[in-house]
Amino acid sequence: MLKIPKQIYDQMLVHAEAEAPNECCGLLAGKNGTAEAIHPMTNIHQSPVSYMIDPKEQFAVFKEMRAKENELIAIYHSHPHTEAYPSATDVRLAYYPEAVYIIVSLENPERPVLKAYRIIHNKISPEEFEVLAS
Ligand SMILES: [Zn+2]
Repeated sequence: MLKIPKQIYDQMLVHAEAEAPNECCGLLAGKNGTAEAIHPMTNIHQSPVSYMIDPKEQFAVFKEMRAKENELIAIYHSHPHTEAYPSATDVRLAYYPEAVYIIVSLENPERPVLKAYRIIHNKISPEEFEVLAS
């Protein structure tokens, strides 16, 4: 089960709200399924319906993760107008079976919803997560 410190959980929501109406995206790094660091990334699509992490930023973060012996724990992005469920494009572009895919939905702006999934071989399965009190 994925473990997310409260501070990182809140930062994902803040990032989603800051980028709205466009999708936000970012990476969580850590060890043994526990997120230890959040890396907000630039969505080079700057779109309300899709995202692509800036490859240069991603390369830099992957390098830093290796240096710290951290793993890629999760990839998050937001759905400003739709539910927190992977779109057909999200499934098609899910290149990291080792990572959890987190989606923040702002469909109801008063009540953001965050959900996590594994996407392996085009199959979506919900991933449980726990928010750790900080
Ligand atoms: Zn999506």
